[in-house]
Amino acid sequence: MYYKDIPGYEDIKRRLIYSVEAGRISHAQLFAGVNGSGALALALAHARYIFCHQRGPDDACGHCPSCHKFDALAHPDLHFIYPVAKKKGASGDDDESGEDNKGSDGTRSSEYIDAWRKAIQNQGGFISYDEWMEKAGLAGKRGMIYTADAIEIIRNLAYKSVEGSYKILIIWLPEFFQEKTSNRLLKSLEEPPEKTIFIMVSHNRESLLPTILSRCQSIAIPAMTQAQTRELLIKELKISGEEATTLAMIAEGDFALARKLHENAGATGEFFNAFRNWMRFCFKTDYNPNPSEPLKLPVIAQITDFFKALPPEGQKQFLLYAQKMLRNSFVYPIEEGDLVKASKEEKEFAKNFNRFISPENLTSVTQAFEEAIYWLVRNGSPQMIFTSLTISLMELFRQPIRK
Ligand SMILES: [Zn+2]
Repeated sequence: MYYKDIPGYEDIKRRLIYSVEAGRISHAQLFAGVNGSGALALALAHARYIFCHQRGPDDACGHCPSCHKFDALAHPDLHFIYPVAKKKGASGDDDESGEDNKGSDGTRSSEYIDAWRKAIQNQGGFISYDEWMEKAGLAGKRGMIYTADAIEIIRNLAYKSVEGSYKILIIWLPEFFQEKTSNRLLKSLEEPPEKTIFIMVSHNRESLLPTILSRCQSIAIPAMTQAQTRELLIKELKISGEEATTLAMIAEGDFALARKLHENAGATGEFFNAFRNWMRFCFKTDYNPNPSEPLKLPVIAQITDFFKALPPEGQKQFLLYAQKMLRNSFVYPIEEGDLVKASKEEKEFAKNFNRFISPENLTSVTQAFEEAIYWLVRNGSPQMIFTSLTISLMELFRQPIRK
C-alpha cells in the first residue's frame, strides 16, 4: 500500500509526509475513520513511507530493501495487533464476559499473522472487521485484543529495532481491547520505547478511553466520497466506470461494502434489473420482462425471492438504491454538481419514470421506503416488509399526479 494507491485524502497525505520530512513524527498517532474509509490504508502507506530508505517527495520509492520487505508485510520492525478470537476448544472459548480473568492468557495476533498478511495484501488495506474475521476463519466469533497480546508486543518493542531505524506498531481497532489492555498500553504511550511509533486505527473513536485519546495525535480520516470509491473500484476490481458508479452510489462511499456487493452478486446489474422490474410490476401486475416466453412465476414473486436472498445489509442497500433511483427520476434531467452520474440504463429509466413522480407522491414514496427500512433494521420479516412496501407503491403510483 502506497499513498498513490489511495484516491483523494491529499491534505492528510501532505501532512503525514511533512511530519516525516521535518522529523516531527508523533510517537502516538490515532487514525480515526469509519468502517470502509481509508484509515488503515493510510496508516500502512504512512508506515511504508517512514521506513523507506529513498523517500520521494510524494511517496515511498518501491525498490529499496525496506520497501521490498514491506511488500510482504514482513518488515522486521513493523508490528501489528488486531482483533482475534480463541480457536475452538481453547480454554475460555466463546467467553462472553470479556473479563480479563477468563481470557487472561488470550490469543495472540501473531497466531494469525499469515492470514493477516494475506488479507491485507488481497484487500489492499481496505478491509472491514467482518471481512477480517471471515478471512481469519473466525466468522461469527467475538473478536478481541487480549491484554496478553498487547503486553507481549509492547515488551518486544523495548528491544532495539532490527534495521536501526524506527519500530512501528499498528494497532488496528483498539476499540476491541480487552478491558485492561488500554491501561497497560497507557504506560507505553506515556513513556514510549526509543524510536517507537504507535499508530492506532480506529473505527469507533468515541469508545476509546479519554486517557488514550489525550496521549495521541488524532487524525480524522473522513469517509470516502462516492468519487473516491468509484476511482478505487475501477482500479482495484477492474470494472467498468458505469458499474463502479452504481456500486459507489449503493455503498455510499464504503469501499469494503462496495467490493463485497460486487463479489457477492455482481450486484449493480442485478439491483437495477430487479428494481426496474419491480417498478413495472407496480403499474402492471402481469408485467413480463421477457415477452417471448410465458411468465412462469409472477414478477413480484421473482423479485421478492431476489430480495429475500440478499444478506440483511444488502436488503437495506437495495431499498436505499431504489429510493435513490426514484429520487433521480424526480429530479431528471437536473444533475447537481456533486451527484455522481448514473449509468446509461439508470438515466434512461429516470427519464421514462419522471412523468410518474410528483412532489406529492415523492414525499409519500420516501416515507414508505423509510418505514420499510425502519422495520428491516429492526429484524422485521423481509418478505412482509417488501410486500407491504410494494402495495404502498402500487397505490401511490396509481394516484393521478399533477405536473
Ligand atoms: Zn523504499
